Amino acid sequence: MTRRALVTGSSRGIGRAIALALARDGNDIIVNFVKNEEKARSVADEIAALGRKATLAQFDVSNHDEVRAKLATLLEEAPIDILVNNAGIVSDAPFPTMTEEAWRDVVRTPLDGFYNVTQPLVMPMVRRKWGRIISLSSISGIHGNRGQTNYAAAKAGIIGATKSLAQELAKRNITVNAVAPGLIDTEMIGEAPVEEMLKFIPMRRLGKPEEVAEVVAFLASDRASYVTGQVLSVSGGL
Ligand code: NDP
Repeated sequence: MTRRALVTGSSRGIGRAIALALARDGNDIIVNFVKNEEKARSVADEIAALGRKATLAQFDVSNHDEVRAKLATLLEEAPIDILVNNAGIVSDAPFPTMTEEAWRDVVRTPLDGFYNVTQPLVMPMVRRKWGRIISLSSISGIHGNRGQTNYAAAKAGIIGATKSLAQELAKRNITVNAVAPGLIDTEMIGEAPVEEMLKFIPMRRLGKPEEVAEVVAFLASDRASYVTGQVLSVSGGL
């Protein structure tokens, strides 16, 4: 049976790797992006080359009305069995100089995004008696990180939302889990002082997007049928 997965923010980075891993596992994929249509299109082409159906969906996960409208259209086409809440942004600053905008945008994208995208998909999953909801948290959300009070707050919030929703949906055969990456080699790490940070990573290297994607693909599969409410770190031991 072919399932259909929505991966938010899958035009690049970890989301792209997740979309491809889920396609390799036999799922059709909805590739969401907010700006980078060209990159999203090339991910869709890679999915098609794997023999799976790819649908492009442009929406900003933090915009409630936009998400509602897009999801209604997508659900009319076919059900969505797997949701990966991956879209996220950073805007680091020491807290005394952190702007209200940096706080609001970094908190809204993953957290409002969690509500906006997950909520309309839950009842259809309940009716179909199967579902997978996986959200990207971060090691920052578990341990905190200097300069990331906004990001760590959002990513800790994802963990609380995941654990609560897992309890609500456990009897419905819908699992809800989070994955907490450490430092992964994507555009997001930008100007971060990587050499300095490697000293704190027991494996002494950055993770690859594909290494996160493998864990997400496991959680999205039938192989993880008795795993729910968990946070799995993919961090080279950090
Ligand atoms: P990237 O910056 O490489 O990619 C971000 C993706 O999210 C892009 O596809 C982007 O779309 C999309 N996106 C951003 N904002 C929105 C929005 N408002 N609505 C819809 N899509 C959006 O990030 P990563 O791949 O590194 O990160 C993916 C997830 O993993 C994030 O949640 C991040 O917090 C988390 N993570 C990453 C770590 C790392 O070290 N890289 C560590 C821990 C967690 P577009 O291309 O259109 O801009």
